[in-house]
Amino acid sequence: RIDPEPPETLLARRRKVIGPSLSISYREKLKIVRGRGPWLIDHTGRRYLDTVNNITHVGHCHPHVVEALARQAAELNTNTRYLHGAMPHLAERIAATMPGDLKVVTFVNSGTEANELALRIARTALAKKDTVVLDWGYHGNSGGTVDISPYKFKRKGGFPQPDFVQIAAFPDPYRGPHRGPDSGPAYAADIDRCLDATLARTGTGAATFIAESLSGVGGQVILPKGYLADVYARIRAQGGICIADEVQCGFGRVGPAFWGFATQGVFPDIVVLGKPIGNGHPLAAVVTTPDLAARFANGMEYFNSFGGNPVSMAVGHAVLDVIEAENLPARAVTTGEALMAGYRRLADRFPIIGDVRGMGLFVGVELVTDRDARTPAPEAADHVVDQLRLRGILASTDGPDDNVLKIKPPLVFGPDEAAILLAGTEAALSTLPN
Ligand code: PMP
Repeated sequence: RIDPEPPETLLARRRKVIGPSLSISYREKLKIVRGRGPWLIDHTGRRYLDTVNNITHVGHCHPHVVEALARQAAELNTNTRYLHGAMPHLAERIAATMPGDLKVVTFVNSGTEANELALRIARTALAKKDTVVLDWGYHGNSGGTVDISPYKFKRKGGFPQPDFVQIAAFPDPYRGPHRGPDSGPAYAADIDRCLDATLARTGTGAATFIAESLSGVGGQVILPKGYLADVYARIRAQGGICIADEVQCGFGRVGPAFWGFATQGVFPDIVVLGKPIGNGHPLAAVVTTPDLAARFANGMEYFNSFGGNPVSMAVGHAVLDVIEAENLPARAVTTGEALMAGYRRLADRFPIIGDVRGMGLFVGVELVTDRDARTPAPEAADHVVDQLRLRGILASTDGPDDNVLKIKPPLVFGPDEAAILLAGTEAALSTLPN
C-alpha cells in the first residue's frame, strides 16, 4: 500500500495543482508515510522524532483514537439536528475541566472556526466589533481571524489593520520593553491605551480581548506573572469580554492545570479549543457561560454542517480517555522539566542559547548572537533545525525574529525522546561556526 512515487516528482506534481501559498518544510522535502507515537516515518522507512506537532497530542495514530473513529464511522455520521448522546456527553466532559460558569460548549471543525464563533458571541453581546489583540497574535486563517492577527496582517500581503482592532504590547519578559517575571503590570498598563482608543472611536471602552494564554506564535513566551489577571480586570472594568485562545497550549500540555489560563489564575468568559482536541481529526470547540450563550441566541440560528458530528465526537472522547488513562499532563511536566534542565546545561556550554523557558511540554529555546544585547540569531536557529533534521529530528522556529526553537511534541514524548532531542541539539549546536 506504500505510495512508490519519489518526493521529487511528487513535489513537481504538487506545485502544478496546489497553490504556492501552502508552504512545505525543509529545502529537501520530506515524504512522510506513517506516524506512530512521537515518531514519523518517511518513504524510505527512516524514522524522525516529531518535536513540533502539538496537534497529535496523544501521539500519531494512537490505536484507541483510531479504533473509536473507525467504529463510529462505520455506524453513523450525520449533523447535530438529531439527538445523539456523544455530543452532550463530550460537552459534559469538557465542561467538567473548566472553572466557574464555563459550561456551554459548541463544537466546530477548526481553531479558526472556533475563534470566529468566539468573536461572534462576544461581539453580539457587546453589540460592537471592537477587539483588543496582542501584538504578534495569531488566531486563524479566515478573513475575520486574520483581521485580529497582527502575526499575519502586519507582514507582507496583508490588508491594513482594521479600525476596530487595537494592538496591545506583546508581553515578552525576555525581549520586550519590560523585562523579567514581574513585568506583568507594566505590560498590562498598555491595555488602557487600547481601551482609550476604543472609547474615542465608539463612545465606550467596551471591547473583546483575545489572547493565547501562553504565546506559541510569539516564540513560546510564558506571559509574566499576573499579566492576564491585570488585563482581564481592565477589560472588564469597561464592560468588555475576555477570550482565551487555548488552541496550542490547552488539554494538559502545561500540566495538571490542564488549561493555560489556569496557570495565570484567570476565568475567561469564552475559551477556544482546537488542535489537540481531535489529535489530528478536524475538531475544535468554544466554551462559554450560559449567559453569553443565551445572549448569542438572539434569533439567528447557528448551524454548522460538520461541527459536533458523531465521528468527531467519538474522536474527542477517545482523546480525553487517553489523556486520563496515560496520565499525560503529569508526564508532560516531568519530561518538560528534564528537557529544560538539559537545555540549561547546554546553555552553560553554548552562549548562543540566550533563554530557556517553558511549562510542561511547551518549551522555547531562544538563540542570540549576544547575550547582553539579546540580538536574535535566526540564521543559527535555521541551521540548528536543518542539522536536527539530518539527525532524524523534526523541529521548527517561531517568534517575531524566527530565532526561537519551538518544542511542543505529542505528550507521549517521554524521557527517552527528550534525551534524543538533547543529544541531537548538542550535536547541531556544535556544528555552528564560532
Ligand atoms: N489559534 C492559534 C493560537 C493557533 O496557533 C492556530 C493555528 N496555528 C489557530 C488559532 C487556528 O487554528 P486552525 O489552524 O485549526 O484553524
